[in-house]
Amino acid sequence: MALLELTNLSKSYTDPGSGARVPVLRGINLKIEAGESLAIVGPSGCGKSTLLNILGTLDTPDEGEFVFDGESLAKGTPKQLAAVRSQKIGFIFQLHHLMPQCSVLENVLLPTLALKAPPADAAQRAEALLAQVGLKDRMRWKPAQLSGGERQRVAFVRALINQPRLILADEPTGALDEANAVVLTELLLALQKSHGITLVMVTHHREQAECMGRMMTIHEGVLS
Ligand code: ADP
Repeated sequence: MALLELTNLSKSYTDPGSGARVPVLRGINLKIEAGESLAIVGPSGCGKSTLLNILGTLDTPDEGEFVFDGESLAKGTPKQLAAVRSQKIGFIFQLHHLMPQCSVLENVLLPTLALKAPPADAAQRAEALLAQVGLKDRMRWKPAQLSGGERQRVAFVRALINQPRLILADEPTGALDEANAVVLTELLLALQKSHGITLVMVTHHREQAECMGRMMTIHEGVLS
């Protein structure tokens, strides 16, 4: 069984000017197997973030089915969606969104606070993950004391801390220079493989998309 399956999924928004419904995603069919890495590419405004938000249970489709890890979520309650989000999904954004007043270690541990029972070994796991991305000696530092690439490494570790089934990355290297972007994309893929996680990444960079196991494009609301 696929980890994620979208069937005939559609989403539209209301144009605040005319009040008309504007379709953004139309009849999306997509299966993503556990452990896969998938890039979604397409021009700005084509619906990539809308799709990522639905995969991340931050939004729901108007029509169609969305099954994640055997659970139907298309009409999920906010409580059900929040539970899936905190337990099974890690998010990486273009900007790191680290808390400036918290240390690297505290930032990494933040998602564990959303769990009903934070694991007793969370701090050890955070340390091991930070070592894996070369930041073991920066654990007590604040985000402002790190470089842009280092901050994004911390964001990667934060996304992994709850051992998610799925990582959703929205332009994860978009704020970095080209050399750093390549290094960080390779690091993200290495983490995804070593932890056996499914990765869906939205990117403008064709070269980065080509590093992923599979690439799909959204054009006029249709994924192909
Ligand atoms: P991308 O991530 O590919 O740049 P988005 O998914 O952000 O595209 O947006 C797709 C389209 O949906 C755009 O035309 C955008 O204006 C519209 N849109 C996104 N979110 C909303 C919203 N909350 N209300 C109305 N329109 C929206």
